[in-house]
Amino acid sequence: MHYVQQAAFVALLATASWLFAKKAGEIRRNILLGKDEQLNDQPAKRWKNLLLLALGQKKMFRNPLVAVMHLVIYVGFIIINLEVLEIVLDGLLGTHRLFLPLLGISYNWLINGFEFLAVGVITVCIIFLVRRNIIKLKRFISKDLNGWPRSDANYILISEIILMSLFLTMNATDQVLQANGSEHYHQTGSFFFSGILSPLFQNMHTTTLIAIERTCWWMHITGIFIFLNYLPYSKHLHILLAFPNAYYARLEPAGKMKNMPAVQNEVLYAMKPETAPTDAAPPAHFGAKDIFELSWKNLLDAYSCTECGRCTAACPANITGKLLSPRKIMMATRDRMEDVGKNIDQHKQFVADNKTLLHDYISVEELRACTTCNACVEECPVSISPLDIILELRRSLIMEESNAPQEWNGTFSNIENNFAPWKFSPDDRDKWAVEN
Ligand code: SF4
Ligand code: SF4
Repeated sequence: MHYVQQAAFVALLATASWLFAKKAGEIRRNILLGKDEQLNDQPAKRWKNLLLLALGQKKMFRNPLVAVMHLVIYVGFIIINLEVLEIVLDGLLGTHRLFLPLLGISYNWLINGFEFLAVGVITVCIIFLVRRNIIKLKRFISKDLNGWPRSDANYILISEIILMSLFLTMNATDQVLQANGSEHYHQTGSFFFSGILSPLFQNMHTTTLIAIERTCWWMHITGIFIFLNYLPYSKHLHILLAFPNAYYARLEPAGKMKNMPAVQNEVLYAMKPETAPTDAAPPAHFGAKDIFELSWKNLLDAYSCTECGRCTAACPANITGKLLSPRKIMMATRDRMEDVGKNIDQHKQFVADNKTLLHDYISVEELRACTTCNACVEECPVSISPLDIILELRRSLIMEESNAPQEWNGTFSNIENNFAPWKFSPDDRDKWAVEN
């Protein structure tokens, strides 16, 4: 019987690992569809960002209560992996509580610690469900979350509650089996939280108890494998991608726009024609119309977005009723990447689908509403810049399609002719200082 269980576990582990590795490979390929950008300089600063922003969740602590609750779920997720390691090894080797003889008395402290985290995770998940579905915080009910994204958040919270409950029930029945002296159920010492549940199972027959304990064990580990494979399709991918995203965050001062060397050189050549190369090819594109012209970091940003809406809640355009939501910019970029990825899977290479990120996923009206204030970048807890994508799309819109409102065109001509947005000759600029 043990061998059958071991074989079933090996099959389950191999399938879950293969599916996860396959999807991770697709996501990596999709991110690398973007343009190259060198973000490897100043490694010390980058490691500091990773530790403070991703591991330390620095920006979350602007709201300490929510930060502590988020930290409970996050620490629970990371530390509970130690317990998953034991479960996986038990499954592979056909053992039960493999680490018990290795850790001695520390094993009891460790499992009690995991149970404390499990209860913390259940409590926080319930609070988060209430915040989303009953209190209905504004940033969780806005229309850019309609449909799948809203359900996704709820599915994850409910799954975490189920996984933690299975873990506690498994330990509760295990303790009753230990007390009954059942074979294979080694003495671990008592566990505080699952011990509270143990009386519920006190009078059950040993066979029933083993059936419940084994069912919880299998459902717990199967649930974790399903969770792992659900992550790449969910906003919870940030649990993994927040780390590389914080490491590769841009280190320039906030608000500094990326220069356009092609445009800068044109101005330089106009002023100093002798510096113009004779064989320079014109740039392929100005700005970005589709994901292929964005940088890989923009695309990594889109996969790392938690859809928390802190950017949208701080966006002056959104607050004043405009169509723009920086969260939706990130979600639309991810949707486009996924669609392009499916296209490549189907045809072995990308086949034009008559769609582009600009227009088909993100509208002109959204792009025009951005004030480039940088508030979204400042607010994002995982080092994402929706503004970067907006700027690149807007550059394409204006420089490739000449698509700008009449008022903007007036400003552009003034800048071109008068070196200022106003309709005054540069010769008249200092007249204001002349005394009459
Ligand atoms: S930079 Fe644009 S998108 Fe970001 S908060 Fe400001 S107006 Fe909104
Ligand atoms: S871009 Fe950042 S702040 Fe905005 S929804 Fe995504 S994770 Fe949250």
